[in-house]
Amino acid sequence: MTRNDRHPEVNIGLVGHVDHGKTTLVEALSGSWTDQHSEEMKRGISIRLGYADATFRQCPDMDAPECYTVAETCPDGSESERLRTVSFVDAPGHETLMATMLSGASLMDGAVLVVSATETVPQAQTQEHLMALDSIGIENIVIAQNKIDLVDADRARQNYEEIEEFVEGTVAEGAPVVPISAGQEANLDLLIEAIEEEIPTPERDPGADARMHVARSFDINKPGTRADELLGGVLGGSLVAGELDVGDEIELRPGREVEHGGEAEWQPITTDVRSLQAGGESAETVTPGGLLGVGTGLDPSLTKSDGLAGQIAGPPGSLPPTREEFTMSVSLLDRVVGEGDAIEPISTGEPLMLTVGTATTVGSVTSARDDECEVRLKRPVCAADGTQIAINRRVGTRWRLIGIGTLRG
Ligand code: GDP
Ligand code: MG
Repeated sequence: MTRNDRHPEVNIGLVGHVDHGKTTLVEALSGSWTDQHSEEMKRGISIRLGYADATFRQCPDMDAPECYTVAETCPDGSESERLRTVSFVDAPGHETLMATMLSGASLMDGAVLVVSATETVPQAQTQEHLMALDSIGIENIVIAQNKIDLVDADRARQNYEEIEEFVEGTVAEGAPVVPISAGQEANLDLLIEAIEEEIPTPERDPGADARMHVARSFDINKPGTRADELLGGVLGGSLVAGELDVGDEIELRPGREVEHGGEAEWQPITTDVRSLQAGGESAETVTPGGLLGVGTGLDPSLTKSDGLAGQIAGPPGSLPPTREEFTMSVSLLDRVVGEGDAIEPISTGEPLMLTVGTATTVGSVTSARDDECEVRLKRPVCAADGTQIAINRRVGTRWRLIGIGTLRG
């Protein structure tokens, strides 16, 4: 098996309020941000999803935490040793729609919550994002107290107390709070040490069926390309189980909508894997972690403009069922994040926006009981029993997260 050693093995979400320094931190840790975007396929998926890979390294002759670095050369001139490559998912800063973050979150193995020391805690999105981590049960969390270069020691301590108080009783209680300056690249060694300790690479079963969540899809051909030179459609997303090899046959579900005897029907699509990209390089085999680009034999008109986003891919016959309606058990939040309003129970007939894996679909509630409801979807999803679902309700002009559902078939 050929496996490049830059392949990320764990996905870490970067969450927190806008302008608190998430993107600056990713850039400080991944360094070669621009190099990683040289290829067309990679460019499309990385920029749009906000993924960036960082390789953590250790200087052999130094003590912790100073030994942790992203540099290849140590202060004494020796070469650092690679620990592992992680993939950061930079939660969209200006996007307050919780579902967007949660759809990324369904692929997160842990999270770094970035909190600026220059503002009081919590700011709106700090709270929204922590509540989301809490709801979906992301337990491996490191808190980066950023911009410490802009505050004095008293303010830094006070801010630290505010953070501790804020996370009390949540999944982030007890998480290490690491004071850093992403801008000045200060204390990044401490942060890397905390991530190494708190966010381990999950154990994977290499024998499991491959399961890919498709987050984007593209047509990478330039307009006017001759028919016999067209490249097949490209899928971008994450492998969450198993292993994918060039040459594998894959099935995509729900697939595409076709007319059948006057009725619209969803049919799975089958194709083959023609090329793979992971960690910015082409590969023969890929395993879970980070972003994946899959060149296929699909007609590019099917993949253009995210035509297949939200679908699931795996060996033919191995995928969960396609559902146009389902029952889910529901756990509502206490109040609307950021607004403080109490959340009314879900009622029959109301529209909900549901995020299932990387798919976002609108459903209408056909039956609502206390802790369970049935929904009929506008666009079907492919999902196994037990899948977690982010439930959003229209409040005023926005969709707001009101709870988490669990698919019950
Ligand atoms: P994001 O919205 O969370 O991704 O925040 P950005 O990374 O875009 O940062 C917002 C602003 O804060 C930018 O102008 C950064 O240069 C600045 N910034 C980020 N981290 C630091 C830091 O540690 N110190 C200082 N002084 N400025 C920072
Ligand atoms: Mg940003």
